[in-house]
Amino acid sequence: MSLSALELERAERIRANKLRLEQIGLVQNVAQLAASQVETARARRKPTARASSAARKAAGSLPPGRVRRSERVAGIDVPNYNENARLLSVADGDGGSRDRRLLRENVREEIYDVEHLDALGSRQQEWELFVDGYNASGDRIYDKVNGQTCHQCRQKTMGKRTCCSGCQSLQGVLCGDCLFMRYGENVDEATANPEWLCPLCRDICNCSFHRSKSGWAPTGTLYRHAIAEGYASVAHYLVLNNLSDAAKPEALERGICPPELTKQLKEELKEDAVAVAEQVELDAPADTQRSLRTSTAEEVPQLPLSKQKRQRTLFTAASGSKRQKGANAARADHRGLRSTVL
Ligand SMILES: [Zn+2]
Ligand SMILES: [Zn+2]
Ligand SMILES: [Zn+2]
Repeated sequence: MSLSALELERAERIRANKLRLEQIGLVQNVAQLAASQVETARARRKPTARASSAARKAAGSLPPGRVRRSERVAGIDVPNYNENARLLSVADGDGGSRDRRLLRENVREEIYDVEHLDALGSRQQEWELFVDGYNASGDRIYDKVNGQTCHQCRQKTMGKRTCCSGCQSLQGVLCGDCLFMRYGENVDEATANPEWLCPLCRDICNCSFHRSKSGWAPTGTLYRHAIAEGYASVAHYLVLNNLSDAAKPEALERGICPPELTKQLKEELKEDAVAVAEQVELDAPADTQRSLRTSTAEEVPQLPLSKQKRQRTLFTAASGSKRQKGANAARADHRGLRSTVL
């Protein structure tokens, strides 16, 4: 029997089966069942998840607001740093071929630990943007022969560059503007320090290529938004807003979080403590429950747990709308931002 004959026979069998199913009304039932399952799933979905997906949709091409990444809500609260991926790839200077390598959204959870807090840079002196490597009329001086390509903005321009004592490679070469905006450091201080390590060697490189390699979407032009929110740089924004539960108390202790984030982290830690206490109480044998209740009452506000949960929900909703406003403001900012701000 030839292949086409086999195929014909199979098609005929399928047709006959379908006819039989239709005759006994099964096809319609299956369709109805599928539709009702979709409805049920929609109705069952938690409001938080729905709000979050709606917010993501609304965010679309907007710059990101602060995205809380408590491990407890991982999977619900997925950040979208992709607001300007297209613009970013254009500004990166190698168009289409590069574009395909960039992710549209995070495919791996972005979480930072205490070692990443340690890796965040600092500076003694401010750095003046858009001066070094620019001519008198404020244009960047591109030089294919004498220029060095910046790992972050991928531009071969004149101006100061870093040199990494670790990898000693092109990956450690950053221009002064990128080093300042993306990592909060001063290129003069970096070049004066013989032990200076590049962001990649510190595992905090936030260039579009390495973020994509890590499974994270490019940040786009996040700089002004990060600064407006009180962060020292884009790296500080990313790390501090995506801390592991273990790193949160450490960040608070170091006092490196802007006031609003400090408040939120405290709130989250308090809520975690309540959840743990609740769980311990549930797990504990009846005779030890009384003493446990006494000890947890000292740590948490004197409110019934249900009431605390409600307060938390209200708080989140309020800060959500605030985030949106911030995002809009930042979006307006971005229009005026130069293409070098990556
Ligand atoms: Zn650069
Ligand atoms: Zn390096
Ligand atoms: Zn990189």
